[in-house]
Amino acid sequence: MRRPAFWLITWLLSLQALPAVAYQLLDAKWQDGKVQLLLNTNAAPSGHNWLNALDMAAASWDSRVEGLNIDVAASSAHHPCDGYRKGSPARARVNTVAFSDHVCSAEFGRNTLAATLIIAKEGRIREADIVFNRRYRWDLYSGYRYGRVDFYRVAVHELGHLIGLDHEHKLSAIMAPTISRIDRPTRDDLAGARAIYSGPKQSTLPSIVAKIEQPTTSMSSGVSKLRGWAVAKAGVAKLSLYINQKFIRKIPYGGWRQDIAKIYPDYQNSRRSGFSLAYNWGKLGPGPQEVAVLVEDRQGNKKMVRKQLHVAALRESAPVGLTSRVLGPNLIQVDGVRVASQVYRVLLRWQAKQRRWGMERFERL
Ligand SMILES: [Zn+2]
Repeated sequence: MRRPAFWLITWLLSLQALPAVAYQLLDAKWQDGKVQLLLNTNAAPSGHNWLNALDMAAASWDSRVEGLNIDVAASSAHHPCDGYRKGSPARARVNTVAFSDHVCSAEFGRNTLAATLIIAKEGRIREADIVFNRRYRWDLYSGYRYGRVDFYRVAVHELGHLIGLDHEHKLSAIMAPTISRIDRPTRDDLAGARAIYSGPKQSTLPSIVAKIEQPTTSMSSGVSKLRGWAVAKAGVAKLSLYINQKFIRKIPYGGWRQDIAKIYPDYQNSRRSGFSLAYNWGKLGPGPQEVAVLVEDRQGNKKMVRKQLHVAALRESAPVGLTSRVLGPNLIQVDGVRVASQVYRVLLRWQAKQRRWGMERFERL
């Protein structure tokens, strides 16, 4: 990874129209997707837990790429330059990371922050080592800080090489040849890593996933919420409500769902995947009903999620003979509610938090 002459250059480039997929591969991989990595901290600058940062950088790849597993540990028994440099111990097929003044047998190039050395044969990576240029002031931070280099994002970049990714020149990516504000693998970077390690399994990720969380299977009639979430790889275009196979209306979409974003980070804008709509279920007759949400994504893919509801039979009989009494500012008593030829008294209490009347008691008269 190189330091750019001007930070502005990378920003201007990132504004151009970009192709959808552009990752570049080195055409070599770790055979079983397993990498053991040792950090030699002998020449490391003090002040930070570099091991922890390297471990997190490894997790930024392997926690999101099925079939890839990078194990990071500390050991000063080996050095990345073993076997590369005259007079150094022989190469021991150990993958190591260290801060160094040189790239083993060569010098660091101008503005070169770090380098990854890979030994591969017939598409199989046998050994890979990373050296960080010790002449820079290494630090850990997000954003930009004058005169210091963020170890974490350089580690993410070099680990990208180590698992088989080449530089990406077109798309905005951690694998871009120069450092920028990007400090983690982007969608394109991850697509590249998955193309190497995850096999065809990833392509069977469903294009749309959605769930109706509310109402639950049974409910009483009245105004209540329809609530849930929907994610689509291509981004959700619109949601529609259907009741008993009949289109009712469009559903507002875009509520914050950090919980869903954690589970579906690779689906576009999954942070804003919530939907919610107040609906008067009282319009429906009693008995079983089918509520369905049709999700359409930006590529025209569709998915219908359904829920069978049983609307409680409060309206089964005509509300003849109902008498109500206000018992207090928050309490109403209703007598004469008939359900299946039984007559009941209902106490309703105002629930300020939910802003609705809730059933306090339901007793036979
Ligand atoms: Zn690079």
